[in-house]
Amino acid sequence: MAASRTHRLIDLWLGTESAQRLRLRQTSLAMALMVISIAALHYAVHVGGGERGVLLWGWTACSLGGMVAFYAAIRSGWSLRFRDPSLTSQQIAFALVAAALGYAQAGPLRGAVFPVLTLILMFGMFQLRARSAYALSFGALALFGAVMAFMAGLRPAAYPPAVEIGHFLMLSFMLPAVAMLTARLSRIRRRLSEQREELARALAQLQAIATRDELTGLPNRRQMQALMDQELLRSLRHHHDFCIALVDLDHFKRINDEHGHATGDAVLRAFAQAGQAALRATDVLARWGGEEFVVLLPDTSMPPAIAGLERLRLQVAALRVEAGGGTVGVTASIGLTGHRHGDTLDQTLARADRLLYQAKAEGRNRTVTDEAPRPISLG
Ligand code: GH3
Ligand code: MG
Ligand code: MG
Repeated sequence: MAASRTHRLIDLWLGTESAQRLRLRQTSLAMALMVISIAALHYAVHVGGGERGVLLWGWTACSLGGMVAFYAAIRSGWSLRFRDPSLTSQQIAFALVAAALGYAQAGPLRGAVFPVLTLILMFGMFQLRARSAYALSFGALALFGAVMAFMAGLRPAAYPPAVEIGHFLMLSFMLPAVAMLTARLSRIRRRLSEQREELARALAQLQAIATRDELTGLPNRRQMQALMDQELLRSLRHHHDFCIALVDLDHFKRINDEHGHATGDAVLRAFAQAGQAALRATDVLARWGGEEFVVLLPDTSMPPAIAGLERLRLQVAALRVEAGGGTVGVTASIGLTGHRHGDTLDQTLARADRLLYQAKAEGRNRTVTDEAPRPISLG
């Protein structure tokens, strides 16, 4: 109970979208760091006798207010319009200015600002590009140089010039070093993301190779086998019918012999396109091998299956494919059967194969089924 309430509170604070949550978690951490730094500065001013009063409270209000504004800008989704919706470099720049102004007020304990400075820049390690990291580091160096010079001029007793020069030298080594490390991380990140993209591309390619027939782009035999297995399971669960057809192009060897293998390939591709276009979106046409194809008609009874295959047969018969100045046509013979409850897929395919053989024997360019109305020949 308490746990779920805590979860709800966290969801309220961070939202539920994962990229936004990551950004807001980062900003919440920055906010916490800001609160601790503010407390530390108040302590430093208290024990060290630095500037108290309106300046300190003004700085406190601006620093806190700024972080709350960043949180609101991200939480509301307003920052999504920027290239980096986490506003990382803006938050870092803001924190650096706050740190520099804090340094001007901290008095003798001002050295405590330096580790905080490093921490601020480390927020960029997961996000910033090398260029931004260097820009922020050198910007911070310039800013601190200016504040140190200003304070050494304004209050030389509290900010002795010799000490400020020492501080500046230390920063001029420290800040570029952090930028260098950030730049290195940025390069590693970029390389990793490039590798990840490459892997994803390779995986997609492999998937296509494993499931698609290269020549026609249709699902290949293995993929069709898997799809038919799935459909068999679905039909058992939901008690629906499905049909399977074997389609074989007629006298295809002649096309190869008379027009060449390349034309044969073109005819296969044209058949694949016309066949898919003739079927419904849920029907699957796959290359079974050579010039033989399988059609799976999921959740379909015989009458609409016959209509679908006849549409396919007629559209294929109307195809014309360019071949050496002229055109060449092709027809298909089809054996169509409904899957019978209790049969294996192999038994259904064997039945479709027998019907296909019958279609060839009866003169080709026809659909033969083992259920009424049979056999039909519309063209
Ligand atoms: P039928 O009407 O009895 O089916 O006669 P057919 O000539 O179509 O039958 P057969 O099985 O004798 O010939 C099929 C031909 O298909 C033989 C083979 O060279 C050709 N073939 C198989 N795969 C391809 C391919 O990928 N590209 C081309 N161009 N031809 C192919
Ligand atoms: Mg053939
Ligand atoms: Mg054949």
